[in-house]
Amino acid sequence: MSSNARALLDELDRATRPVAQAVADLRAVREQWGDLLAAIERPPAAQWPPRETRGFLDLAAEPRTDGERPTVGRAPLTLREHPAPLNLDALDAALEVERDLFELADQLAEYVQRPVRRIPKPHPSGRTVAAVDARDRNNPARWHYASQSDPGSRAYGLHWAAVWIEGRVCGEDLDGDLFTPAPAHLLDRAARVAARARRTVERALERDGRTTDLPDPCPWCRGQLVGQTRPGGEPAVTCSTGEGCGAPARLEAGRRTWRGAELVGLWAAMDAARNREA
Ligand SMILES: [Zn+2]
Repeated sequence: MSSNARALLDELDRATRPVAQAVADLRAVREQWGDLLAAIERPPAAQWPPRETRGFLDLAAEPRTDGERPTVGRAPLTLREHPAPLNLDALDAALEVERDLFELADQLAEYVQRPVRRIPKPHPSGRTVAAVDARDRNNPARWHYASQSDPGSRAYGLHWAAVWIEGRVCGEDLDGDLFTPAPAHLLDRAARVAARARRTVERALERDGRTTDLPDPCPWCRGQLVGQTRPGGEPAVTCSTGEGCGAPARLEAGRRTWRGAELVGLWAAMDAARNREA
């Protein structure tokens, strides 16, 4: 490959990397938003694995009734007034992420979105005045700023803001005259804000790769059990004893390890051990 072609590829890579990362982070925020809103209404989980990641164990399953309004998971998708939030960390995280993404959408709109067109309109006085083009203003692709009396696009919640930002970051809908491409400094900014939003959501949901010593010992060797969560991954538990532990679990890096659905077996054994001791 010629050095020119190499330089061009390097430049392309530099230009597209923040876009790809921002898109991945925005999607991760959207996918976990319902969980975060649901977490606000529940007391913080003191157990491991975090309640939010226990879906596969089916322990947190609640009966679903038909005819409810559309939800993702069990949560309505708009952050509402909570008269008595049970998890203040989750509420703080949701408010922070909403504020940051709404502000980012405002900034992007300022740069890449054409202001509402004005069209000439006859006035009773006989003169012609410039009036707001209602069709242009109501274009559903637009981002609307908040005003004192109107929340604008904020009324549609974080989900729509994230989708709209993703469209601008990816340069969608550039065939009309409503949007122009986002400049590099705004793409970088969008990537930073999206990465921070994802970290905030995952920390609040305890999916940020933390390690916790479990209070119960290993049911097979009485060794220390360690729980781990990682962003986007399934939770895992390892026994600290090493190969000497006789648990029916596979060895990973020399430790008995249970992952995802395998944790059901470990849970059952821990339960049985507790009952024996009780
Ligand atoms: Zn063990």
